[in-house]
Amino acid sequence: MVTKSSMPEFEEYTAMLRPLWESHWLTNMGIYHNELEIKLKKYLTVQGLSLFTNGHMALELVLQAFNIDGEVITTPFTFASTTHAIVRNGLKPVFADIRKDNFTIDTNSIEKLVSPKTVAIVPVHVYGNICDVDKIKQIADKYELKVIYDAAHAFGIRYNGKGIGEYGDASMFSFHATKVFHTIEGGAVCYKNAEIGEKLYELKNFGIQSEEVISGVGANAKMNEFQAAMGLCNLKHLETEIHKRKYIVEKYWEYLGDTKGIYLCHIPENTISNYAYFPVLFEDTFKKSRDQVYEELKQNNIYARKYFYPLTTDYNCYHNQYDSTKTPIAKYIAQRILTLPLYADLKLEQVKQICEIILH
Ligand SMILES: *Cc1c(COP(=O)(O)O)cnc(C)c1O
Repeated sequence: MVTKSSMPEFEEYTAMLRPLWESHWLTNMGIYHNELEIKLKKYLTVQGLSLFTNGHMALELVLQAFNIDGEVITTPFTFASTTHAIVRNGLKPVFADIRKDNFTIDTNSIEKLVSPKTVAIVPVHVYGNICDVDKIKQIADKYELKVIYDAAHAFGIRYNGKGIGEYGDASMFSFHATKVFHTIEGGAVCYKNAEIGEKLYELKNFGIQSEEVISGVGANAKMNEFQAAMGLCNLKHLETEIHKRKYIVEKYWEYLGDTKGIYLCHIPENTISNYAYFPVLFEDTFKKSRDQVYEELKQNNIYARKYFYPLTTDYNCYHNQYDSTKTPIAKYIAQRILTLPLYADLKLEQVKQICEIILH
């Protein structure tokens, strides 16, 4: 499989359940929820952080919290969640193209798309590859736009000495079971402005401000105690987890790094990576197409993923609304990209076997 959820020792998790049986406090900002919030704030070196039941609701509600209306410049080379969150807020996504070197949003493309209706930018640190955060800030300042990062893949990454959640007006992290750090399902928003923090607190709890004052059209997106307990366990093992992933990624590089027609993303000098994904681009100069490699791996019971294919602009539910030919690089990458299996327990022997099938 492309991924396998990391788990703490069974007893480590179950030992945390006893206090819950004693207190009967299972959700609604309980002790583990609050402890996790404090620990994550510290780990990510961010000013404000709010926990959610999943990453998608975190993104939907942070967009709502900014109370914006109009066009949002974003990327089609992402998971369904990014585009859906924008659309479900009644905002209009406008799609910029991506960079060929790291598949993040192309800032030249952003500037061409800014209109009087533009209110925000929602870039994605796709695969944990970091967007050009400095240039994005420049554009946002110039046109007075909010910047809300989809940082679902970027948990724990540091860039130029700062936590990745310190960039932009807000960032969403996903703690889904398949992500580097998880709470079974879960997510968080990091933010700078304390007012946004208060809004998020209300919006994830039905917009309830106080017992008799309901101030927003909120949702229910609170993280429960069982999720938070899993997070507290996993956080203790995170460094080991990332270290193991790094080792696997280095092995992949050893086998595939010098192959004609295969492009791999470099981790820049100023970035401390989390080794979340291992995307491989099969260019036309390689002897097999991406789809061929995908099928051959599948025949050997190895499940790589065409992540991200199709582009969100090509989804059935958005039929005829967007034009993916306007983002030709995104289109090109989506047709040639494959993410290979990567998780802490992946055996080096398996990495070798995967690469042999690809190169055969
Ligand atoms: C996983 C993911 C999300 C959504 O996170 P969930 O926690 O699964 O709701 C959003 N954006 C991207 C890019 C993701 O990979």
